[in-house]
Amino acid sequence: MGLNLGICSGKMLRMAYDIKTINTVRERRFSPAPRPEVWAEASDKDWNNWIWQQQKRVKTMEQLEKVINPTDDEREAFAQSHEMFNMGITPYYAALMDPNDPNCPIRLQSVPGKGELHIAPEDLEDPLGEERDMPVPGITHRYPDRVLFYTTHNCAMYCRHCTRKRKVADPDSATSAKALEEGLAYIERTKSIRDVVISGGDALSNSDDRIEYILSRLRAMEHIEIFRIGTRNLVTLPQRITDDFCKMLKKYQPVFIHTHFNHPKELTTEAFDACAKLADAGCVINNQMVLLKGINDDPKIVMELNHKLLMMRVRPYYMFQADLAQGISHFRTPVEKGLEIIKALRGWTSGMAVPHFVIDAPGGGGKIPLLPKYVMNHEGKEWTLRNYKDKEYKYLEP
Ligand SMILES: *Cc1c(COP(=O)(O)O)cnc(C)c1O
Ligand code: SF4
Repeated sequence: MGLNLGICSGKMLRMAYDIKTINTVRERRFSPAPRPEVWAEASDKDWNNWIWQQQKRVKTMEQLEKVINPTDDEREAFAQSHEMFNMGITPYYAALMDPNDPNCPIRLQSVPGKGELHIAPEDLEDPLGEERDMPVPGITHRYPDRVLFYTTHNCAMYCRHCTRKRKVADPDSATSAKALEEGLAYIERTKSIRDVVISGGDALSNSDDRIEYILSRLRAMEHIEIFRIGTRNLVTLPQRITDDFCKMLKKYQPVFIHTHFNHPKELTTEAFDACAKLADAGCVINNQMVLLKGINDDPKIVMELNHKLLMMRVRPYYMFQADLAQGISHFRTPVEKGLEIIKALRGWTSGMAVPHFVIDAPGGGGKIPLLPKYVMNHEGKEWTLRNYKDKEYKYLEP
């Protein structure tokens, strides 16, 4: 029993406060999205309804002008990017934008920017080689025991830094019922698969019925142990997480939710409530952040983001280096930046707040983890290690 894993302190609490009289974390640390003037008339019932939110998406410059003061650069980028990659912003997410600051992290993720118009020489059409590892159209099977399953090409919002730009929002590439069946049939006959990442687009752009159909089909397969639902709706349309939806998920546990928060400004009371409903329904929620220049390439921002995520019962899982998708070179950071951020987290804060920093290797190599240098030397049985405060320690192997 010599190992101190810090798991059990053996203390007993004899006195408890009445929890109802204490401000909860939700009230202390989170606030709701503001309601911009243009939607002041909308009823709370509409505002909190995801179908209303989706119908009222900001898609044109006239609509955008009612929420923020677009710059000339944003206007030009909008006009020129429209053909390639639409703008579509839910009122809820638009409400988080700073109307007067073009460098607002919410705005940079949702309003077209001039950087998008530039294709850098290193940009790739299929940056992760997803098409290469496709045994059937809707499946990428790269790792031995798990697959990515594309179930839709729609999203609640079109993120400007999206890796799957060439597919997302393209009406011609809708995932048909036939493709869905082919994907399910592939998973059914491939017994090495135990983990299915239900993705898109955004998996929650599917109707509840379609999601339940997919989950029930997967649960009926003996070899499937877990599945994950990949969605950014917690960030861009938290109203989508309804009681009915969570009740349905409960039947298919274990269910993992993989989401994509990038900045503390996205962590509102609405997002908190959506995560609480999912966690109460038994889901484990993981966050996959993307490092984006001018948005979150700063240890202080990532630390704050991850602390608040933990309060929402969301575990920081990955921090991705931005990949080589076309038209996102203005978002890419030096690889050193990611290492600097991990160095600033590990040891300095809860280990649960430290994600894996990974590069999804171009051409289909998969996710490769990167760590700051902690092993200084290794000779024979002697390891020279450096801790988070840069102090050196020796470990001798038996
Ligand atoms: C990211 C990814 C997965 C899941 O990887 P984990 O490291 O298990 O989260 C599976 N398949 C593909 C093709 C992926 O890109
Ligand atoms: S939600 Fe995901 S797939 Fe959809 S646009 Fe955003 S990054 Fe791309």
